[in-house]
Amino acid sequence: MVRGYVLMVIIHYYLKLNEMEQKLCLECGEQIQGRSDKKFCSDYCRNSHNNKVNTESKNLIRNTNNRLKKNYKILTELNKSGKSKVIRNTLNSHNFDFSLFTSIYKTKIGKVYYYVYDQGYLELDNDYFLLIKKT
Ligand SMILES: [Zn+2]
Repeated sequence: MVRGYVLMVIIHYYLKLNEMEQKLCLECGEQIQGRSDKKFCSDYCRNSHNNKVNTESKNLIRNTNNRLKKNYKILTELNKSGKSKVIRNTLNSHNFDFSLFTSIYKTKIGKVYYYVYDQGYLELDNDYFLLIKKT
């Protein structure tokens, strides 16, 4: 394990060193001519690299928003009255994602309410959850 890690570090620095000496374009990998602080061989490569980075972060945000929306829809459907009790399996069967929420509310006695916008849930005993809508 440790040896593998050491090897990885060495390879990492070797590649870094190599990169510094040769200066390869971050986009196409071609050797860069001219100024040593350049990261790309051409405007074309710089633009397409930046477009990719922007697209990736946009996709991340869009996917997260979609998953949050899905969580919100599940809570809304299961909590039509504004205050309901469900078992964990019900949430799981709808593919509720417990890792995504928009805010947390901790009570004085240490209970933690997780909110997806105005729809909240609190874990109770025996795998039950209280669903509660913010009023
Ligand atoms: Zn290039």
